[in-house]
Amino acid sequence: MRYSIQGMIDKTKKQLLVEDGKIVDIGEFGKGSLTGARLIETNGSILPGFVDVHVHGGGGADTMDASEEAFEQIATTHAQHGTTALLLTTITESEEAIEKTLSAFDPYRKRNGAEIIGFHLEGPFIHPGKPGAQPKEYIQPPNVDLLRKWMAISQGTIRYMTVAPDVQGAEALVREAKRMGVVVSAGHTFTSYEQALTSFDWGIQSVTHLYNAMTGLHHRHPGLVGAAFDREEVYTEMIADNIHVHQAAMKVAMRIKGIDRMMLITDAISAACMAEGGTYSLGGHPVTVKDGAVRLMDGTIAGSVLTIDQAVRNLIAASIIRVEDVSFITSLNQSRLLGLPFGRIEIGAPANIIAMDEHLNVTHTFVRGNLVYQQ
Ligand SMILES: [Zn+2]
Repeated sequence: MRYSIQGMIDKTKKQLLVEDGKIVDIGEFGKGSLTGARLIETNGSILPGFVDVHVHGGGGADTMDASEEAFEQIATTHAQHGTTALLLTTITESEEAIEKTLSAFDPYRKRNGAEIIGFHLEGPFIHPGKPGAQPKEYIQPPNVDLLRKWMAISQGTIRYMTVAPDVQGAEALVREAKRMGVVVSAGHTFTSYEQALTSFDWGIQSVTHLYNAMTGLHHRHPGLVGAAFDREEVYTEMIADNIHVHQAAMKVAMRIKGIDRMMLITDAISAACMAEGGTYSLGGHPVTVKDGAVRLMDGTIAGSVLTIDQAVRNLIAASIIRVEDVSFITSLNQSRLLGLPFGRIEIGAPANIIAMDEHLNVTHTFVRGNLVYQQ
């Protein structure tokens, strides 16, 4: 299939020629070889599609539902908000439940919506004292054999893993994960600044939902936040929903990490894009949604109902980021960290593209050149 997409790139009206899922030409609107192909006019700004490395669910479906129907529901829900690639994110659960989820994924299946690039294992190898909303009873010490087994069950699709660096056995796990090509992120931890720096040397490259499920930035005990700020090369995830992190703390993090290391995530659960006020589930545990906040029955924040487009609007509204820098923190950094070909509008790149109107609402989502969503 060959067609062209019209939209604004760098404030100029341009046209992208798309063929076999790739961008094959880019030029000024209406010029040369670009004409003749079927034209889709977006009249919006063209950006690389968002890559969400931390998303549990959406549209009523949860990763832990362990079915292709659930996975597709998550992928189509978030595609409506500009996500073109995502990592299905598991939570700390029984080995059986995690294995059921990993084995339910078919990496070769054709789906609607965002492409699913694999799994993010959030737990069970985390600190029992910082579970967040994850069920504490299933937290277990780092287990290299289990990770190898799970990698095989998932057909090699575990791409990213959240690990607490301050539990016995973390070093061996991090080193083995890295050897297997899994990117490791530090999170759900009490780790000290010193321990965190050591764990970056083992191979930890990222920090899971910065500020949340870790100690705060104390001036004598800077902890993981201080370590992430100190080490320029470390990537940080951030949930920019104005609930998990105060605007001032988001601004500080953005200034320090810069547009080259910040990654917006949703940490969205099944309730994302569903009606407020109802009771939903996070991996089978009941949660409520009120005023945009998701909480367990005891009041603990339990993921979000955020979508990446809303996160972008939040940061723009608070003057924390400029529109021209959005694609770094929504797509390019995630792609660099995971070795994915996304994040740039250029010839030869996969046509994972979105269009946004002047209010930063997503009007079109293309995945590998297919129009999967139109407003
Ligand atoms: Zn999460």
